[in-house]
Parts: sequence; C-alpha cells; structure tokens
Amino acid sequence: MLHDRDRIFTNLYGFADWRLAGARSRGDWDGTRALLAKGRDWLIEEMKASGLRGRGGAGFPTGVKWSFMPKTEGPRPHYLVINADEGEPGTCKDRDILRHEPHKLVEGALIAGFAIGAHAGYVYVRGEFVREAEHLQAAIDEARAAGLLGPDACGSGWPFELYVHRGAGAYICGEESALIESLEGKKGQPRLKPPFPAGVGLYGCPTTVNNVESIAVAPTILRRGGAWFAGLGRPKNSGTKVFCISGHVERPCNVEEEMGIPLRELIERHAGGVRGGWDNLLAVIPGGSSTPLLTRETCDSVLMDFDSLREARSGLGTAAVIVMDKSTDVVRAIARLSRFYAHESCGQCTPCREGTGWLARIMDRMVRGEAEIEEIDRLEQLTRQIEGHTICALGDAAAWPIQGLIRAFRPELERRILAARQSRGEAA
Ligand code: NAD
Ligand code: SF4
Repeated sequence: MLHDRDRIFTNLYGFADWRLAGARSRGDWDGTRALLAKGRDWLIEEMKASGLRGRGGAGFPTGVKWSFMPKTEGPRPHYLVINADEGEPGTCKDRDILRHEPHKLVEGALIAGFAIGAHAGYVYVRGEFVREAEHLQAAIDEARAAGLLGPDACGSGWPFELYVHRGAGAYICGEESALIESLEGKKGQPRLKPPFPAGVGLYGCPTTVNNVESIAVAPTILRRGGAWFAGLGRPKNSGTKVFCISGHVERPCNVEEEMGIPLRELIERHAGGVRGGWDNLLAVIPGGSSTPLLTRETCDSVLMDFDSLREARSGLGTAAVIVMDKSTDVVRAIARLSRFYAHESCGQCTPCREGTGWLARIMDRMVRGEAEIEEIDRLEQLTRQIEGHTICALGDAAAWPIQGLIRAFRPELERRILAARQSRGEAA
C-alpha cells in the first residue's frame, strides 16, 4: 500500500485550496527555478531514470519521448502539447487533476517545455470539461501574474506560455495526431505514424504530446529524484498511478496507489469491495473500455501494472477499473462498448469504418441470441481483420473487448443462441 509520504496528488479529492496559495503550501512550485537551472539533459535523464511510463494508456516511457526532440532549436519552433481530452470510458483521473491539482500540471508543463526546448504549450481539454478548463485557466493566470509563466518563467530566463484549447466532443481527438489536426483547426482525424510528433507534429514542427497525469507527476519526480519514483512499484512498472474504480463496488473512487498493487487489494481497500462480496464478482475491465475483461479467477491474483496485465492478455491502459458483479449482462455490456466505438470511428479507414459497425450489429444480435453458433468464430475473425490494420488504435480498441468476451464467455454466447432458438420452437 502506498505510504502517505510517497503520495504525489495530495489534493486529489479537492478538500484543500486548489489555487496557487494552496498549491504552494503543498510544495508545488518549490524550487522550480533551481530545477530548470540543472539543464535540459539532467531533466531528461532524471525522467528516464524514474522509469515513468506514459499515463495516457500506451505506457511509452516519458523521458525517452522527451529525448526524441531535437537537441537544438532549428528554424522550426518546438511545441509541448498536453492531452486532456480524457474520453476512454471508465476513465476520470485527469478530470480530477484538472479540478483539484491544476498547478501540478502548469508547473509540469513549464518543466517539460523547458526540457524539450518549447516556448509554448497547449493543453487540449475535453469539451465537456467546463469547470476543469476554468480551473486550469485560473491556475495559468495565477502563475503568469506571479511570474511563474511568461517571458522570464520563474526567473529562469526561459520564456514559456501555456494555452488552453477546448475540444468539441469528439472521442477521436484524444488520439494524439487527431488532436494535433484539431489544434491546427482541421477535422480531427488521425495521421499515419511515423512520422511521430517529435519529428513532424503541431504545424509540422517538433512536438511532444503527453498525457495530463504524466506531466503533473513530473515536478515531484524531479524534486525527489528519479530513483525515488523508480523505487516504487515494480521493475519496468515503476511509481504511483491514479486508478479509477467504477461499476459494482461499494464506493467508486479515484485513488493514487503504487503500481503493481493486486487488483483485489485495490478494490477491497479503496472501493469498499465488490457489491455483495468478492464471490459476487463476475469480471473486471482493468484499464478502460479497450482492455479485454478479466474473469474472476484472474482477478484473484493479477497485479495492476503494464506487464502483469499484458501477461494476463489484457492491459493497464488508463487504469480505469470497471467492476461487474454477477447481475451484469456481460454480452450486453460489451455490445454497448461496440456501439460506442462504431459511433466514434472517424471513418477514415475501411477496416474501422465498416468493421466497427459490423461488429456492433453482430454484437446486438448476440445480445438477443439471434445469431448462429458459427458466427461466434466469424465475429472473432472479424476482430482479427480489424486489429492492426487501421491508422490508429481505435480499430484495436473495438476489437479487443470482443476478443476478451469470446475468450472468457463463449459458453454464455452459445447459451443465449440456443435459448433463443428454443424459444422460437427450433431444434437446439
Ligand atoms: P502508441 O503506442 O501508438 O503511442 C504512444 C506514444 O508513444 C505516442 O505519443 C507515440 O507518439 C509515442 N511513440 C510510440 N512509438 C514511438 C516511436 N517508435 N517513436 C517515437 N514515438 C513513439 O499508442 P497511442 O495510439 O498513442 O495510444 C493508445 C492508448 O491510448 C491505448 O492503450 C488506450 O489505453 C489509450 N487511450 C486513452 C484514452 C484516454 O482517455 N486517456 C482514450 C483512448 C485511448
Ligand atoms: Fe479513424 Fe478508425 Fe481509422 Fe482511427 S482506425 S483513423 S478512428 S477510421
């Protein structure tokens, strides 16, 4: 269990003052100028040493990503882009960081911007996050008035400005290259990668795109040292993480915990346990809607980190834990996700545009049992034809939950089909 002294987000629940005075009393903006004085290379090496893996879902090492930016400024300016377009179903951690800890993000943006050689940063905030965007803007205004941002940020001699950009409700704009297109004023559609943003990003310039949580933890990591962060969690899965626990638990919550905490401990210690007790658990989606569900047997022992969940044929993703008890119609739950992905497909590439709609239609029939037994395999094959064959990860995200469902609940799919046949008076 995470010790209080190792907690980064000390105002995650908003019990204290989120404004500059309150943030400073909790240690934010403490010695920022001295940190910047250590230089870009030191900052990047320290982030690498921390082992921090990107908290947006993919887990790409943050320090390594910063190191991809050109070492010197050429004719093209460098940009920092912070992804606050949090939209993965089940995920609500960045929302609370924006609400209650906005100065951690603003300070982190200055440090990251300095480390990658950027004089400007953009925070792309999900359109529905109205109050969150207001808090962030207020924090930026306070920081600028105090000289922490601006032409001589923190007295470092480094000019740095941070801007809030509001999204307009499209889930796909959370994909980093669609986000960049949207920032440029275009329709938010993903670009083919490579080139990655560090080579060709915003306005065709070198750009680093990081998630809110990744940036917000950076100042504390750098103040306390990469080795401190690396000492928490498990090898290659270091540090602390904000987990979002929702669904059939007694007390849904966001909580910062050590990476690698057992799933069962996470749910029982922080969310009051599964409604009706652990034995009433049916399945858990461990990392946001795109990660395949885990059955009760796996949930008994699995650890909550990137590598352990990959071994369990799922993923940590955004660490959004969605708990389903035995009252859940699991086929219907996954069918609902299929409709979500079909709706949010940007339509740019055929396997996703056509395939996600097809998946959703078959899943709807599976819910009603109006399918043939052979269609279960056809559904599986269809997910394989989408997975890895699209421009962005939305195609994979639509495929994986269904693959997980078939792996774990094939007998339930078959039972529904046979039951529907019987109710129509057909031979089973
Ligand atoms: P990705 O693995 O393609 O990339 C992750 C990051 O690493 C990107 O910034 C990318 O530019 C960088 N990167 C990867 N390989 C690189 C290379 N060879 N060189 C340079 N940079 C490289 O994943 P993705 O498509 O950005 O993200 C997928 C994840 O997003 C999913 O795992 C899902 O959990 C998550 N997601 C999160 C939300 C949310 O609300 N936070 C919403 C949808 C999806
Ligand atoms: Fe658009 Fe889907 Fe292709 Fe992504 S995978 S670019 S969302 S059509």
